[in-house]
This record gives sequence, C-alpha cells and structure tokens, in this order.
Amino acid sequence: MGEMPVDPYNWIEETLNTIHRADWYRQVKTINSVPGATVILEGQEVINFASNDYLGLAGDERLIAAAVNATKVWGTGSTGSRLLSGNRELHRELEKAIASWKKTEDALIFSSGYLANLGAIAAITGKRDLILSDRYNHSSLKNGAILSGATVIEYQHGNLAELTTKLEQERSKYRRCLILTDSVFSMDGDLCNLPVLLALAEQFSCMLLVDEAHATGVLGETGAGCVEHFHCTGKKLIQIGTLSKALGSLGGYVAGDRALIDLLRNRAPTWIYTTALSPADAAAALTAIQIIHQEPERRSHLWENVEVFKNAISNQLPNFQLLPSQSPILCLQLPNPAAALELGQHLKNSGIFAPAIRPPTVPTSRLRFSLMATHTSQQIQQLVSALKTHWQFLPIA
Ligand SMILES: *Cc1c(COP(=O)(O)O)cnc(C)c1O
Repeated sequence: MGEMPVDPYNWIEETLNTIHRADWYRQVKTINSVPGATVILEGQEVINFASNDYLGLAGDERLIAAAVNATKVWGTGSTGSRLLSGNRELHRELEKAIASWKKTEDALIFSSGYLANLGAIAAITGKRDLILSDRYNHSSLKNGAILSGATVIEYQHGNLAELTTKLEQERSKYRRCLILTDSVFSMDGDLCNLPVLLALAEQFSCMLLVDEAHATGVLGETGAGCVEHFHCTGKKLIQIGTLSKALGSLGGYVAGDRALIDLLRNRAPTWIYTTALSPADAAAALTAIQIIHQEPERRSHLWENVEVFKNAISNQLPNFQLLPSQSPILCLQLPNPAAALELGQHLKNSGIFAPAIRPPTVPTSRLRFSLMATHTSQQIQQLVSALKTHWQFLPIA
C-alpha cells in the first residue's frame, strides 16, 4: 500500500492563508461610474484619491467621442501585431505626436507601459551586460531587467553615491550598462535626480532609461515629463511612459533616437509578438495629447491642488508626516499594514477613497493620495477633515 500522493495544488490554499495572516491579502473593488474626482465605489459615492487620472481626462467627452468614432471607423480590435495585420495610420499618428511632444526623433507605442518596459529593457541588454536599478523602481522595470538576462544590481533608493561606487567597481566587467529609474517614484511621489543620473551615465558610458509613467502630462512646462521639468530635453536617454495615467487611455510608449526605435521594432518581443493597440485606445490617447497642449490650465489646477493639500496638512495636522514628494502623489506613512487598512476603511466610511499600499508593493505601509486637476478645494478639505477625525482613534496616534 503506497502513500497517498500529495495534491500538487495544496500549496495554493496554504499560501493564501499565509497572505491573509500577514494582512497582505488583496482584492478588487468595483467602481460603477465614469472615472472622475468622485466615483461610485461599491454603491457609495466617494471622493476619489485613488486614481492615476491626474488631469481628469479618462471621463472626458472628447476622449469618449474619439474612441467611439475610431471604433466605428476601424472596428474594435486591431486583429494582429503591428508587423502583420494590426498596423493603422492612427498608430503612427500617435507615435509622431508623442515624439514631437517629447522632442525625440521617434517613438513606439506598446499595448501597455508594463510591456514597453519589458520589451525595451530585454531588447537593449543581454547576458553580458549590467543593469543598475533603483530599489524602488516599478515592477515592470525590475521584471524587464530579469527578462533581459543581464546581471542586475540594485542601489538604495535615490542613493547616487552608492550607484557611483557600484559603477566604479563593476562597470568595466561588462559589455553594455543600463541604468534604470522611475522619474516620479510611483509609490512615494518623489523624483529621481535626473541631471546627476545623466552625468553618471555619460561618465561611465551607460545607457539611461527613465520611466515617466507618473510624470507625463503632469511635470514640465508642456507636461512632457520629468525630462522637461529638469531642462534635460534633447539629452541622450531612453524615455518610457504610459498612455493610461494622465492621458486617460491605455497603452505605453518608448521615446528616443530613431535608431533605438528601429531596433525595438526588430527586437522587442512584447511589441513584435502582441496585438497592436485598439483603435479606440489609440484615438483616445491622441486626443488627450491634443487637449494637454490646448489646456495647460489643467496642469496648473493640479499643482494648485497639491499646494492646497500640503498647506492644509501642515496647518491643520502639524503632527502628520507626509513622505517627501514633488508630485501629485502624497503618502502618509503608517506603522503596519493593519493600521493602513484600518485608516483606509475609516476614510471610506467618510466617503473618501484612498488606497492602503502595503508590502510587498512597498517596504512600509502607507495611505496614498493621488490628487487630480478636477478635485475642488472643498473636496481636498473633506479629506483633511476626515484624516483629522479618524487619526486620533488609531492605536498608533
Ligand atoms: C503604471 C506604471 C507602469 C505600467 O504602465 P501600464 O500602462 O499601466 O502598464 C510602468 N511604470 C510605472 C512607474 C508605473 O507607475
């Protein structure tokens, strides 16, 4: 009589139990309305501080009309990869609009920002190369680095002295070297030190790839991103971004030199072997770029709202420590996942939607507030008042 074989799927339930015990368990919440400064969250109207729709464009009538019209003209699906049956004039128009905005020679759109990072990093580095990566970089940069097969070394968040040391010690052992960084760090809201990174890249003959996901449409004179914000437009580097945050659509892009983009069309697996962006998504993103050019006041409102929030916190909740941020992402650090979940739940009961961000996404638990151009100062005050009310009931206050 042999032993009963172990059910090879048992570990799944066990792992889920472990995730629950650590308060790391995640589940979806359903929004039942057009995106905006207020949304219907599970039947309750809430002020929305959880969205990446910084400029309030995802629910804009003009984007909706562009998407509907593109669907009527070109259909719902693009039916194939760009190199086979999926390419439309609309895709090229969008790429030209991105390149012209970023003042790069060319651009290439991907089906998501995540895929743009995976594809670009895997296309330009391999086994003989070195990748240096900020510890707080987005998951798509980290997984792109793994996919590439290069040797990956992480440096402490923002610690460019450590990066310099690593370059001095390691650079010469490898063929090519690529430095990876978010430009706005997505879970903290602080910025990379782009001018110093560019200088290091030049000094050590490294490529530099910056992920402008949270900066595009938000930072810089024309909203072109952190590169523009730091007056580094035209410098040699690789810019990645998404069409799904301030642009209110779906998709990603790489912007850079003509030769780089040409290489990606030949080497990036997540571009070659995946279906082209839908006509609706491409048309909505293109319209968003036009609106961002025509309506710079959206960006001014956004930054006014950031100031309103920061001032209200420092005047009304002087004990509060927001994490350092130079973006519309503002975080309140909390001692543990349970406290973050509890405060998040209290806020939700008061009609405020702000997510608790916990490990393993970030090393320390926090509530994360994303401001939008379309929030009113009254809505921001409601958030601050709710924080004031519920903070004192937390065991850690
Ligand atoms: C959101 C995000 C991405 C992924 O973009 P998607 O278009 O949503 O796939 C990549 N990098 C950073 C820093 C992000 O915040």
